[in-house]
Amino acid sequence: MYDLIIIGAGAAGMTASIYASRYKINHLIFGETPGGQGMEALQVENYPGYVSIPGPELMQKMIEQVKHYGVEIKQEKVGGLSKIENGFEIKTNKEKYQAKTLILAMGASFRHLNIPGEDKFLGKGVSYCASCDAPLFKEKNVAIIGGGNAAVTGAIHVAAFAKKVFIIHRRDQYRAEPAWVEKMKKIDKIEEVLSNEVKEIKGEEKVEEAVLANPYQGNQSLKVDGVFIEVGQVPSSALAKQLGIELDERSYVKVNPGMGTNVPGVFAAGDLAAIQGGLLFRQFVTATSDGARAAASVYQYLHQGAAPAPSWSKKS
Ligand SMILES: Cc1cc2nc3c(=O)[nH]c(=O)nc-3n(C[C@H](O)[C@H](O)[C@H](O)COP(=O)(O)OP(=O)(O)OC[C@H]3O[C@@H](n4cnc5c(N)ncnc54)[C@H](O)[C@@H]3O)c2cc1C
Repeated sequence: MYDLIIIGAGAAGMTASIYASRYKINHLIFGETPGGQGMEALQVENYPGYVSIPGPELMQKMIEQVKHYGVEIKQEKVGGLSKIENGFEIKTNKEKYQAKTLILAMGASFRHLNIPGEDKFLGKGVSYCASCDAPLFKEKNVAIIGGGNAAVTGAIHVAAFAKKVFIIHRRDQYRAEPAWVEKMKKIDKIEEVLSNEVKEIKGEEKVEEAVLANPYQGNQSLKVDGVFIEVGQVPSSALAKQLGIELDERSYVKVNPGMGTNVPGVFAAGDLAAIQGGLLFRQFVTATSDGARAAASVYQYLHQGAAPAPSWSKKS
C-alpha cells in the first residue's frame, strides 16, 4: 500500500508530487495526459520565473522535476475509486492500486461551443482564457463570447490591450454581477452584441471573422483577429462522486483551506477544487499552490498532526 496516490498530472498534481517527494511520502501519480491543460497553452506570460514560455515547455519542466525525484508518471486512466480498510483503492484501465491517502487533481476543461473553426483556430486566435492571453491581442479587434463573470471581466481585461472588443451574448441580459457589467459599460471600446450568437469562426491561417447567427448593424460577421470563448468550465469530478465527496453547485470539489474534502484522507487541488469562501481563480500559480498545500496536509495527516516542515529548511 502506498502512502499517497495523486490522480492528475497537471500543474496541481505534479506540484503535489514534487512536495510529496521532498516530504519522503511514498507515492504514485497518474495522468491520462501528462502536463494537462498546460499542454494547450500557447504562451504563458504570468508564471513567475518566465517572462514568456510555451505551455508545453513549462509542463515538460514540471514533468522532469517530478522524475528527478524518481517518481514515474503512470499514463493510465483512473476509472474507479473505493474505500477500503485504512485507505482507498483505485482501478485504472490496467491495474488496481491502494493508498492510505488520495490527492484528486483531475482538473477541468473549458466548455466548448462546438462550432466550425473553433478547433481549427485554437491558438491561432481562438482562446478560452482571457486572463491568460489578453496581451497577445494588443491593438487588435477581438470578440468575447459569453455573459457570465468570466466573459464580462474578460472583456474589461482584454480592453486594456485591444483596439476594439465585441462582447457577444445570446441573451439580452448578463448573468455577471451587476457591478462588473456597470464597469464594462463605461469602457468605450467595448461594444455589446446582445441576443446574438457566433455560429462559425473563419480565416485563412488565423482568425479573421466571427460569423453571427443574426445580422448586427447590417453585417452578418464581425472582422476580428481573436475570439475568446468564455462560456464556463466543466470540472472532471465524476470520480470524486464515487467516494461520496461533496461537490458545490457547479460540480467542483469542495475543500477547506488545507485542501481537505469531507472524506478524511482525501484532498483535492487545482482547477477541480473550490476552496469554500475563496475566489474561483483557475491559473497555473493557483494550481501549483493548491498542490503544495495538499501535499503538506497529506504529510500532516499521515503523521497524525505533525506540522509539515517547510521544504526550504532542509536539503533533500
Ligand atoms: C489554452 C489554455 C491556455 C491557458 N493559459 C494559461 C496561462 O497563460 N496562464 C495560467 O496561469 N493559466 C493558463 N491556463 C489555465 C491553466 O492551464 C490551468 O489553470 C492549470 O493547468 C490547471 O492545472 P490542474 O493540474 O488543476 O489541471 P489540468 O491541467 O486540467 O490537469 C488535469 C490532469 O488530470 C488528468 N486526469 C483527469 N482525469 C483523469 C483520470 N480519470 N485518470 C487519469 N488522469 C486523469 C489529466 O490527464 C491531467 O493530467 C490555460 C488553460 C488553457 C486550456
